[in-house]
Amino acid sequence: MTPALSTVGLRPLSRASSHPFLGRLREGTASTPVAGVPEILLVREPQGALPSGFRAYLLEEPVPDVSVPDAYVLPSGFLPLAEGDVVRVEPSSGRLSALYRRASLSNSLLVTERCDNYCLMCSQPPRKHDDSWLLDELLELIPLISPETRELGITGGEPALLGEGLLRLVEQLKTHLPGTAVHMLSNGRRFSEEVFARGLGTLKHPDLMVGIPLYSDLPEAHDHVVQARGAYDETLRGILNLKRAGIRVELRVVIHALTHERLPDLARFIARNLLFVDHVALMGLELMGFAKTNLPKLWVDPLDYQEPLRAAVRTLDRAGINTSIYNHPLCVLPADLHPFARKSISDWKNVYFRECEGCALKEACGGFFASSTLKRSRGIAAARP
Ligand code: SF4
Repeated sequence: MTPALSTVGLRPLSRASSHPFLGRLREGTASTPVAGVPEILLVREPQGALPSGFRAYLLEEPVPDVSVPDAYVLPSGFLPLAEGDVVRVEPSSGRLSALYRRASLSNSLLVTERCDNYCLMCSQPPRKHDDSWLLDELLELIPLISPETRELGITGGEPALLGEGLLRLVEQLKTHLPGTAVHMLSNGRRFSEEVFARGLGTLKHPDLMVGIPLYSDLPEAHDHVVQARGAYDETLRGILNLKRAGIRVELRVVIHALTHERLPDLARFIARNLLFVDHVALMGLELMGFAKTNLPKLWVDPLDYQEPLRAAVRTLDRAGINTSIYNHPLCVLPADLHPFARKSISDWKNVYFRECEGCALKEACGGFFASSTLKRSRGIAAARP
């Protein structure tokens, strides 16, 4: 999954730090910095001297005679930053990355790009490099995040590859953001180690859910989709161990050409064997990363899997399992499935196309991934009022 992170170029106006650093944004030149917090002053209309004491300064326009260190000019048309956002500044390369946006409902913490699966439709293909520094940065970031944040994602790569590091991260979230729901995306395999799953449960995070993909009722079919032999067994053991440890689990099924036909069988398998899961999300394909590369193998028009999708939803719903359909425009779903459809696409990659103009369903419809320009259902059509 792609993190909420954007980067722009910066121009230094004064002596710059030699190392990258994080800071939380403040606005208004009359401000005084909060003691002990690395705050970065965001100055939209520079007037007079900059107040001292901030970790850094981001200016929309250059000013002469800057006496404070780490003052930078933002490029024109910079990303919309605001008070409370947390950014990383890399003085040597002039890069600025938004790690957390206070106004966004879709903030995610990217903990690693490494993964032990190699899913055919992975939207953010794994990388093998050492990125253990990400955990240190996240531990520094969490105390800077607004405690009013409703939800945060934990994503990768595979977060559980961090082992003990993941437990430290969840503990830090519980300590600093006890009112924030945490949703972690994991392939579940590492939780097949009972001690590890129990370790996560012992933390007693007040609102943690782990979202785990399951692609088939057949082991070999799941293992093929994730390109890892034995993954199915480990994932199932992981799900059982997490539930035993008192952690809420969501199952995620990405629907594509290799998974849609057996959706009813998978739903029956879940209803019989995994009735205790807390949520099942049946998800449309995001055409990014490997999904783009493997598009000829994976693409199926959602109009062509309405029947298996309907049968799966009915089975899960009748079994009393909380069920949702993600990433599907309403116009490609039969009306009886609309109550299960959610606006699930992160705000920073959610778009509507020309076909949507004047659509009576637009308010309720989750629209498209920005990447959907590549391929769209033949069923897209505005509903007339
Ligand atoms: S036309 Fe656009 S807004 Fe209307 S239901 Fe289809 S995707 Fe949604």
